[in-house]
Amino acid sequence: MKDKVIGLRVDVDTFRGTKQGVPNLLRIFKKHKIKGTFYFSVGPDNMGRHLWRMLKPAFAWKMLRTNAAGLYGPEIVLMGTAWPGLQIGKRLGNVIKAAHESGQEIGLHAWDHHRIQAKVDKMKAEQIRKSLKKGVDCLTAICGEAPVSSAVPGWRCTDSLLEEKAGFPFVYNSDCRGTHIFRPVLNGKPLDQVQVPVTMPTYDEVVGRDGITDDNYNEYMLKKLKPGELNVLTIHAEAEGGKCQHMFDEYLTLAIRDGWSFCPLGELAADAGNIPEGRVAQESFPGREGWLGVQR
Ligand SMILES: [Zn+2]
Repeated sequence: MKDKVIGLRVDVDTFRGTKQGVPNLLRIFKKHKIKGTFYFSVGPDNMGRHLWRMLKPAFAWKMLRTNAAGLYGPEIVLMGTAWPGLQIGKRLGNVIKAAHESGQEIGLHAWDHHRIQAKVDKMKAEQIRKSLKKGVDCLTAICGEAPVSSAVPGWRCTDSLLEEKAGFPFVYNSDCRGTHIFRPVLNGKPLDQVQVPVTMPTYDEVVGRDGITDDNYNEYMLKKLKPGELNVLTIHAEAEGGKCQHMFDEYLTLAIRDGWSFCPLGELAADAGNIPEGRVAQESFPGREGWLGVQR
């Protein structure tokens, strides 16, 4: 592995993030001549249902810390509550296709981001399989080829999810937080699909805590990089492709000046060499509500 390389992953959660955030990011990526992996949500945008979760204090606090209305826009309040969520792949297939045609790596985030994030641990294997299939079929129809990877919303990774993913032609997946590329073992057997875990925190996890603000966020994130080790960064089309786009553009300028390069996660997986075995545990995580899949 090269000494200073950052695997760059873009999560696209919403209709608005796809429509506005993705074209903004494609422009910024082109300016810096970089490539990453875009994980698209392609079914209904039901993220407005998150509003109901504001009744939980931890989530309300997070919304206040990160100014979620500013990040996601006012329509998120109604999306998926008052009427059925807009179908992202159906309406914005041209945006997804443009990302693919510009040479970005394309992966599946979800069919229904909200449903998976809220319920994946309670869904039956068959429901998970159907949801994955709808997402894969939709992305395949848009791009003309199957997505090479997938990344479960909210890092809600369970063994049953990994087992269902193994039935799809993903080359690798990115479903958890961790420190190095590994091969999950299920029922005593290592899976073909390796995991490329996310190593860096996300914007909404750190801003508003421990004195981190928009003014020192880039500096904080640059200090977190570890030369010679796995560095995987997740950005969101809704944040770094929206309100935070100038800050992110500046981050790229600074990182590249410091000698860092960026690549899709698939390149890291392909270069990994000898891959150790591991497993994914479900644990609480700083700055996030509920549990996340964490490499153990
Ligand atoms: Zn997401």
